[in-house]
Amino acid sequence: MEIIASRGNKDIARVFVGKFNNKLVEFVESRQPPLLWNEKWVIIVSVSFGCPIKCKFCDAGGNFAGHLTARQMFKQVDYLIVQRYPNRTVLVPKLKIQFARMGEPALNPAVIDAMKMISENIYAPGLIFCISTVAPTTARCESFLEQIAEIKNKMNGKFQLQFSVHSTDENQRNEFIPIRKWQIPDIAKFGEKFWYPTDRKITLNFAVSKNTELDADKIVQYFDPNLFLIKITPINPTESASSNNIESAFTFDIDKKTEKFIISLRENKFDVIISRGEFEENFIGSNCGQFVNKIQNSNTFNKNHERHYGKKYRLIHL
Ligand code: SF4
Repeated sequence: MEIIASRGNKDIARVFVGKFNNKLVEFVESRQPPLLWNEKWVIIVSVSFGCPIKCKFCDAGGNFAGHLTARQMFKQVDYLIVQRYPNRTVLVPKLKIQFARMGEPALNPAVIDAMKMISENIYAPGLIFCISTVAPTTARCESFLEQIAEIKNKMNGKFQLQFSVHSTDENQRNEFIPIRKWQIPDIAKFGEKFWYPTDRKITLNFAVSKNTELDADKIVQYFDPNLFLIKITPINPTESASSNNIESAFTFDIDKKTEKFIISLRENKFDVIISRGEFEENFIGSNCGQFVNKIQNSNTFNKNHERHYGKKYRLIHL
């Protein structure tokens, strides 16, 4: 893998663009303030060149050019590991490796082999794998998620599985995530079949727009709070969100609709995490699949970005 560009702040988050046979991927490292790098380190890698799903607020959608091999996924992780830990021994209490950058992991069975390769080549007792999926409805994807449950069991429940739900209304979910996928009851049934109360809870992620339907009763009806938790995030300021007129319900202060949803869920014993991300990440462009697209127009991108944020965040060609 050739690294052709990077951008960001080493203390908050950095995004890298790697090239495999003339195709670009992006991957990210970040910490989770207030924790330090040596307390929690998050690495987010791409599983595909582009993404075939085309979610309405994600810049990684479109320009799909195939899935990465296990080795190509491993290379992204290894590049970052070796920079900080050349002997590949990572004694960070939490090293989260997330297969969620560009691409839908359940469409790429090589993700399972990539996890194996990482476990075999990097010594990291604090390793937690994380899969973030929209749960496409295909036999291959369903088998993939069953294999994930097996890996979770081997890791004694230390596995983070996240479903992108984004609305409690199925029609709206179809607008945001325009493929055939599991509906809300299907996700609930999967958790009941494969997850245990002693495992790390499955996350139901809602990136909340101003128009998103948030009906806590539907969550309470289907999901067990011992198996599932809810994560609320703002819509990231992507170009796709902007061109599809999807406006975040909040940036810092939670809006009334989202607040009502959260209160009602908590009253029904659900854990609710509010994840705003780092404001600086938006400047860096490390939130979604923004970077590969922008690198094609790096001169214009740098000019506009420097005008707003200064030279600190300019894109650096290596
Ligand atoms: S959010 Fe995930 S599944 Fe949807 S287009 Fe982006 S990378 Fe693909």
